[in-house]
Amino acid sequence: MHKYWGLFLVLILTFSCKEKAATEQQIQKTELAIAPIVKPIKRHFGFNLDDFTVKMDTIRRGDSFGELMLQHKVDYPKIARITEDFKDTFDVRRIRVGKPYMILKSRDTSETAQVFIYENDVINYTVVDLRDTVRAYKEKKQVKFVEREVSGVINSNLSEALLEQGIDYMVTHNLANVYAWTIDFSMLQKGDKFKVIYKEKYINDSIYAGSEGIDAAYFEHNGKPVYAFAYENDSLKSIVDYFDESANNLRRTFLRMPVEFGRLSSRYNLKRRIRYYGNKIRPHKGTDYAAPIGTPILATADGTVTESTRRGGNGKYVKIRHNGTYSTQYLHMKKQNVKRGDFVRQGDVIGWIGMTGNTSGPHVCYRFWKDGRQVDPLREELPKAEPLAETLQPAYFNYIAPLKDQLDCIAYPPQPVEDELLAGELSALTE
Ligand SMILES: [Zn+2]
Repeated sequence: MHKYWGLFLVLILTFSCKEKAATEQQIQKTELAIAPIVKPIKRHFGFNLDDFTVKMDTIRRGDSFGELMLQHKVDYPKIARITEDFKDTFDVRRIRVGKPYMILKSRDTSETAQVFIYENDVINYTVVDLRDTVRAYKEKKQVKFVEREVSGVINSNLSEALLEQGIDYMVTHNLANVYAWTIDFSMLQKGDKFKVIYKEKYINDSIYAGSEGIDAAYFEHNGKPVYAFAYENDSLKSIVDYFDESANNLRRTFLRMPVEFGRLSSRYNLKRRIRYYGNKIRPHKGTDYAAPIGTPILATADGTVTESTRRGGNGKYVKIRHNGTYSTQYLHMKKQNVKRGDFVRQGDVIGWIGMTGNTSGPHVCYRFWKDGRQVDPLREELPKAEPLAETLQPAYFNYIAPLKDQLDCIAYPPQPVEDELLAGELSALTE
């Protein structure tokens, strides 16, 4: 009976996913059919390029704004005015070698520069309009957001599972952040699965300009599924947190570990015996995470830096006080990134993995202090962040319903099937 029920559910699921896909395809086709045919205008940065003689180049070593303008017949007082009056919008001393720029020149024989456009980065640019009254302003290129669905099955680690599909490393980073409190990424199992919905940014429809934060995700670790939906928790401060399908916050007040992808190499152990010391008991009051030298070390919670120094076997270390109860300490750093008295947010880079002090390999020794005593953070029930406010929950459940359906409909990439598994499935089918 159970078996049939399961089969029935699977059929429904497959059907509704297919049905949805068909509708989407129809919509796309309709849009294509009614798209009007328009004569393309060479518009760029809000200017009709046909009106000018266009020079495109990148800033070279030794170039200065003044020099470039003089070459293009802009008189000196005008240049001086831009340098002075528009310092806040366009600081001419800050143009950088390698950045693209464009000069729109008059189409007459004088070829005087009319407009100077400097690309600050792939999205932002600055326009200096030299016609009539000089003015300078900042603009953004039109960015198109394209939703993307990605899924994977872990063979060795998360970043590999995503990188082999050509996915931006930022997605791995973001996914690790979403689940940093609920899943220990140093303990991933072969066969763990994930699905992600996020948006990619494109400029002029074609130039990839990075990815946005994750909208929704699903992670199955050790057979236990955890959904995650981005939702604005506090509209005043526009704080976005991730919540599960029951509106529980996925965040804890502490990160599970101080490195994004470290290997747990030695646990807190009060009875540790070390052969090197004649098999004597040498308690290990820290939790060690091995990672390559230079890997960022993250503050596991908000707090104030109480120590950032170098001392004996600890090497270079940082200690953070989080509240009256908890402090954390991070040893053997290559270099610290914070000073005593600094306030740090959870996830801030406070230093980098190194080998200073007593250590046989690159790792961070993470020490977790509770009421002045060192305890095992992996055994502590870490305080949970507040669930979504009850007043926000009805809107939240409405919002996530279609997203959850969408996640459930994402298929996993085909995996090499192991013979044993295949045989098992076949026998189940013929039973
Ligand atoms: Zn240690």
